[in-house]
Amino acid sequence: MSVGASRSAWGEVRGQTCSVCNRRDKFDFAVSDSIWALVVPAPHVGRVVCLGCFDDLAREAGVDYSDAIETLYFAGDKACFAFQRRWGRLVTFDNS
Ligand SMILES: [Zn+2]
Repeated sequence: MSVGASRSAWGEVRGQTCSVCNRRDKFDFAVSDSIWALVVPAPHVGRVVCLGCFDDLAREAGVDYSDAIETLYFAGDKACFAFQRRWGRLVTFDNS
């Protein structure tokens, strides 16, 4: 879940539901407001978007966010983790 870099949702993630897929979102991430604005369409701005849906939207929008996420948080029901990025790279598909 992310609504821009200024809002870390670490404490807000529990019980949040992605506004795109309507699934519970246990992962929290933050990207810059400029990346968020390029990726997330108007109906979902200011709402919860899970990382899986954010990735789908980024692919559809043609936005490379492979260097935009430094820390990924998991807020589980039993344990919580913060993951630090070791690397990120752009995925390209050959549709030919
Ligand atoms: Zn989702």
